[in-house]
Amino acid sequence: MSTQTAPNTTGALVEIKHFINGEFVAGSSGETFDNICPLNGEKLGVIHKASKQDVDAAVAAARAAMDGEWGRMPVAERLKLLYAVADEIDRRFDDFLQAEIADTGKPRSLAAHIDIPRGAANFKVFADVVKNEPTESFFLETPDGAGALNYAVRKPKGVIAVISPWNLPLLLMTWKVGPALACGNAVVVKPSEETPTTTTLLGEVMNAVGMPKGVFNVVHGHGPNAAGEFLTQHPDVDAITFTGETRTGEAIMKAAANGVRDVSFELGGKNPGIVFADANFDAAIEGTMRSVFANCGQVCLGTERMFVERPIYEKFVAELAKKAKNLKLGHYNDADTNLGPLISQEHRDKVKSYYDLAVSEGATVVTGGGIPEMGDLNGGWWIEPTIWTDLPDDSRTVNEEIFGPCCHIRPFDTEEEVIRIANATPYGLAAAVWTTDSSRTHRVARQLDAGIVWVNSWFLRDLRTAFGGSKMSGIGREGGVHSLEFYTELSNVCVKL
Ligand code: NAD
Repeated sequence: MSTQTAPNTTGALVEIKHFINGEFVAGSSGETFDNICPLNGEKLGVIHKASKQDVDAAVAAARAAMDGEWGRMPVAERLKLLYAVADEIDRRFDDFLQAEIADTGKPRSLAAHIDIPRGAANFKVFADVVKNEPTESFFLETPDGAGALNYAVRKPKGVIAVISPWNLPLLLMTWKVGPALACGNAVVVKPSEETPTTTTLLGEVMNAVGMPKGVFNVVHGHGPNAAGEFLTQHPDVDAITFTGETRTGEAIMKAAANGVRDVSFELGGKNPGIVFADANFDAAIEGTMRSVFANCGQVCLGTERMFVERPIYEKFVAELAKKAKNLKLGHYNDADTNLGPLISQEHRDKVKSYYDLAVSEGATVVTGGGIPEMGDLNGGWWIEPTIWTDLPDDSRTVNEEIFGPCCHIRPFDTEEEVIRIANATPYGLAAAVWTTDSSRTHRVARQLDAGIVWVNSWFLRDLRTAFGGSKMSGIGREGGVHSLEFYTELSNVCVKL
């Protein structure tokens, strides 16, 4: 077996090791598990499982980096390293791309346009934010009028645990590692057990640019009673940033309570899409196709509940179904592939169970609903793009996050009605509104319970804006200066004059 961490196209199995203190190391227990390609079920290689001792070593390396050269490094030098990381990801674009598509099965074109470029951009953008943002603020008088000088200094929080999911592996992991390092912290990353490779490759990038040892560490393994839990429960971790399922967030929050550590959570969603009769119909269809089916529906911001104003409801359902039927499922290398497989057998079983549940809850299956015949690729975790109508508002299918290529479409008659049902969910991550009425745009947008409301678009992202969810979709906001709030401590110094 190859011990290289870079992916290869020769068919050789790859061994994924931990990256601790600047070195790729095997797990101390010697235990491994298989890395499987979701496209066809083939084994890509093995992943080392981190023991408690391995996690201890990674956290100790991060702490030593904070106490050493990294902790003392001037900001300009630190940011130079971050720009170099972005450049090195760009230089090794093809390695990252191959690793990401092999781990996820997603179409090459999708990863080439979104996952890998954003992976590099996350380092540049947050280096820019820290470069341009004044890190200190001054107040010349105390409120009672006594002469004093107050100034506040931002300091790194220390050792940050980064726990990331499998749906956009490099993008979502660097979205946290970029600002954490820009603010001067050291990190220990636990990527999803399904998609370990691009995070591991980032270790090679860190060494190539001369990042001091211990600033960036990676441990592999599962969540409960494994690497994830060992890391979040570690007493020397100062803060935890997590993207994943809401119930995992609940477990991590309990772990973070020991020692009162700060958390930033980007969690699940059951996002509404609202189409008014005055919308640009074609744009609404095109945007909804993306928001429902992109990445095979495995996007936290994706739309699983569509609400369409009654005069255009029938036409909208028919057109969306026609387009969904034309989606091409296939190999990531085929240029005409629109959708890849789901990430794992376990996830496919979950999504399929919702497809069956929808039928038992009374859905009309407009299109899809099953497992497609994929010929050579039958060993992969395929599922049909699916659209339902006619489900009751209180059915589980329209209330629980499925995280697959599917949506339910329901008609509505008034603005008040659609706002009420759109908000009738414990989640509050994202919403998409399609209308050409500018007053309605603002009126509806401000009434929706969502961290992000897109109007006449979906997934249009400016990395300087606040990103996060309300209700059960998360805690806190990251993005631009909002990330500084989480990744730094503000310390006020008051000098009596
Ligand atoms: P998940 O919660 O199962 O796993 C995410 C990570 O947490 C993995 O690395 C996993 O190993 C780890 N983990 C699991 N249990 C743990 C524990 N007890 N302690 C510590 N770590 C643990 O999520 P997933 O299935 O990888 O991702 C899909 C979910 O992520 C969906 O719910 C989706 O909505 C959500 N998501 C949210 C956003 C957002 O920005 N809000 C973005 C992407 C995905």
